[in-house]
Amino acid sequence: MMLAYSAVSFPLSTWRSAVFLVAIIGFVLALKGLSSPRHARPGNLLGAAAALLAVGMTFSAGTVNHSARNLGLAFGAMALGTAVAVPAARLVKMTAMPQMVAIFNGVGGGAAALISVTELLHIHSTGVSPATYVVVEALLGVLIGCVSFAGSAISFAKLQELMATRPIVYPAQQPINALVGAGIVALFVTAVVTGSVDYAFGVLGLSLILGAVFTLPIGGADVPVLISLLNAFTGLAVAASGFTLGNPLLIVAGTLVGASGTLLTRLMSKAMGRSLPNILFSAFGAVVTATGTAEGLEGKSVKSSTPEDVGVLLAYARKVAIIPGYGLAVAQAQHVVKELADELASRGVDVFYAIHPVAGRMPGHMNVLLAEANVPYDELKEMDEANPEMPTTDVALVVGANDTVNPAAVDTPGSPIYGMPIIHADQAEHIVFLKRSMRPGFAGIDNALLFDDKTVMLFGDAKDTLQKLVAAVKAA
Ligand code: NDP
Repeated sequence: MMLAYSAVSFPLSTWRSAVFLVAIIGFVLALKGLSSPRHARPGNLLGAAAALLAVGMTFSAGTVNHSARNLGLAFGAMALGTAVAVPAARLVKMTAMPQMVAIFNGVGGGAAALISVTELLHIHSTGVSPATYVVVEALLGVLIGCVSFAGSAISFAKLQELMATRPIVYPAQQPINALVGAGIVALFVTAVVTGSVDYAFGVLGLSLILGAVFTLPIGGADVPVLISLLNAFTGLAVAASGFTLGNPLLIVAGTLVGASGTLLTRLMSKAMGRSLPNILFSAFGAVVTATGTAEGLEGKSVKSSTPEDVGVLLAYARKVAIIPGYGLAVAQAQHVVKELADELASRGVDVFYAIHPVAGRMPGHMNVLLAEANVPYDELKEMDEANPEMPTTDVALVVGANDTVNPAAVDTPGSPIYGMPIIHADQAEHIVFLKRSMRPGFAGIDNALLFDDKTVMLFGDAKDTLQKLVAAVKAA
């Protein structure tokens, strides 16, 4: 039998599904790439390309004919978004990255909520009573999207210091929040039962309030965990809009964001040694217990040193661990720390960076900073890989880190950070802290390691001190 080959023409819906499938595969591969610093950049680009493909298909001829009258508005909004987002992303400082993520996430949640609102209004205008599941999907989109939007907006304001960054607490806070939650449930059920759009607007209003009041008692440095959780919420809101619009791409993309946000939230809680309810409801950081003085603990004093002395110590060491923390990001000292590491390596010193998973103020903060300075990936050791090296390390150079090396996490039951895994700087032969003062880290507690007999302090801005150390090592 002869096979007849002819040009096969597929209907638009088949093409659209095929393109969306390619975009979905792109999103999955992008997430895989983002899981390691080495592949993060191509992963990011792949994700962006997949999103572009999906948007292109959505706006392709034929796909949008039914709503063509709004095309101008849609393109206008896209142009405006691009004009704001591109310079914002290019100019953002590394220390301001968490609030940038917060605002982008909030916009996503808000957009998902608006899609659901539009759908509810559309249902209302037709006068036909819709299937229950349609109303439930749309209301879920409104609820989750509004919580995510309002929570992200407050997170942004906290991180940008537009409002108090400390936890804001007031009497009966959690019962009041529970009451708002109960109000949402009541309005949600009534909206589903009656099909009235007025109740849906009640859900919208209370969800915005819930997002805000839920975020108020969370302290500045716990906010990144909350943002990760809100990011998961945004994913779910997008998935809900996907059901509303019958768009499988949105369902899959939203679910991917929901799942990865949930996993990241879990990882961050684990790396901080705290449960998620503790992070969300305990107003951690509201009480600062650190004395913040050089004669802090049990009458012990800290020992100050000079860049010249530490330069000699480093130059003649065999193995040096650089332990970066939030202060490295504040000082923007990533380039000069690499310069120091290169100088030491050129003298035959074995140098590595010991990276704590929650060093800094967002997951991967240190990896991103050091990658920006072109630190080779094989010099970056994650905590589990770095800790076995610490007992044979001559000098632990702690650059603007504090909580992530605080032994109270291991030996002081009852400490707020008890149970958090740490980098064992205390096991090195010498410990050098680069910080500006005796002020505590995020957790607001004293660090006995500053007073250890093996520890010396180099007070000053990390970037200035590192520059002096580079000069001292060269001169040694
Ligand atoms: P810490 O917040 O514990 O300490 C940072 C230290 O840097 C401070 O003691 C500060 O001391 C010093 N510092 C600040 N600016 C400078 C500067 N310009 N030059 C030199 N030193 C400076 O940081 P870690 O990275 O060790 O720990 C991160 C904390 O944040 C942990 O408690 C973690 O749980 C929390 N967290 C992290 C998240 C993440 O995803 N990474 C998310 C949520 C919370 P001084 O002011 O004296 O200079």
